[in-house]
Amino acid sequence: MKFYSTNNPKQLVSLQEAVVNGLAPDNGLYMPEQIPVFSSEYFTTLHNKSFQEIAFDVANVFVEDAIPTEHLKRIIDHTISFDAPLVKIEKNVFALELFHGPTLAFKDFGARFMSQLLSHFAQQQNREIVILVATSGDTGSAVANGFLGVPGTRVVVLYPSGKVSDIQEKQFTTLGENITALEIEGTFDDCQRLVKQAFLDEELKTKFFLTSANSINIARLIPQAFYYFYAWSRLPEKEKVVFSIPSGNFGNLTAGLIAKRMGLPIHHFVAATNKNDIVPHYLITKEFLPKPSLSTISNAMDVGNPSNFARMLDLFRHNHDAMLKEITGYSFSDDETREIMRNVFSKSGYTLDPHGAIGYLGLKKSQVQNPNTVGVFLETAHPAKFLDVVEATLQTKITMPDGLNYFLNRKKETLKCQSDFSSFKNLLPTILS
Ligand SMILES: *Cc1c(COP(=O)(O)O)cnc(C)c1O
Repeated sequence: MKFYSTNNPKQLVSLQEAVVNGLAPDNGLYMPEQIPVFSSEYFTTLHNKSFQEIAFDVANVFVEDAIPTEHLKRIIDHTISFDAPLVKIEKNVFALELFHGPTLAFKDFGARFMSQLLSHFAQQQNREIVILVATSGDTGSAVANGFLGVPGTRVVVLYPSGKVSDIQEKQFTTLGENITALEIEGTFDDCQRLVKQAFLDEELKTKFFLTSANSINIARLIPQAFYYFYAWSRLPEKEKVVFSIPSGNFGNLTAGLIAKRMGLPIHHFVAATNKNDIVPHYLITKEFLPKPSLSTISNAMDVGNPSNFARMLDLFRHNHDAMLKEITGYSFSDDETREIMRNVFSKSGYTLDPHGAIGYLGLKKSQVQNPNTVGVFLETAHPAKFLDVVEATLQTKITMPDGLNYFLNRKKETLKCQSDFSSFKNLLPTILS
């Protein structure tokens, strides 16, 4: 399988090149040359397969001979070493819990798969790979933990100072070894801009073997398709399945669209956001208007310029009507988020985190328009990751999972940096020397 840049469909590269580059040299995002379609018989066998077996089938059509089959199996078994259970909340509403990995958020899937792919490809290149990652919270912890101690790799995490939760911060600032955390005096968008600019900087590119681990990397996207297949296979009813995806950079939603193109019978998608409503606004008005991000209680989705939008446009050949047929967008306030967290907790005893709550809100709103759909919303983080908000909202104590306690008892170590590019560029060599 070859991959092209969304800015130039004629320029094809190998999986290795796409994964190592992260972003294409022309600033586009990589997409698979064609999306293979599984036969309808394949889907009738799915419920008998394990999560790992399903994940292997999906990965294999993109990886083909870029990685030997036996090694790809090992990579899958390492990536999918925890479950993604489907939990029934009420009639026709299921939570797909994606937070059972080491950092308790769905980004563990992408980060673990990508670190294994990069370390496999690094062996062929004989150079230390430097992974630059901008995070609004969960990406940093998932990537840092995915790469911790992986030979031949260095990770620099850029995050907006004071804008991530204490627990999130602890998960990528306490690791040491090959992981460095940079506290940027600015917003998440500043962090993302610095990373993008570094990839365009000739001097940095000659000095270091830079790659990206943000959701723009195709190796993050592929494993996110696995759990759409798995969730669908475990649904007791499969008529008119709707997935509602709490979204920020829209990697998760894009992976769902790809799963559908592979033949997975998904009826419709809901793009659910907080007040950073760039994509819902586009769906309603045809206008794509990136803005500075707004701070909300679902802060892992505080994104003002969603990076995967280029892939969404590409999948629909820039046809707004075609996108609207498959995706409905809704945006919700913090007050609505808190209110639904309280409602669901008192009605069904289920604890939503603020991100999952937005997914739930989006699903319920779509079911008002279209009753009788089988709804799945992605529960993207464990509620304990957003302890302050969840406890204050629900007036109850959340039990801390063991995995989080480990990080909380460690000491934060960071370097501070201004948000202008030259400060960052000057600091980088001292970190990496
Ligand atoms: C990153 C993140 C999201 C948003 O996912 P995208 O793929 O960027 O749209 C949602 N919820 C949580 C908890 C996250 O960490």
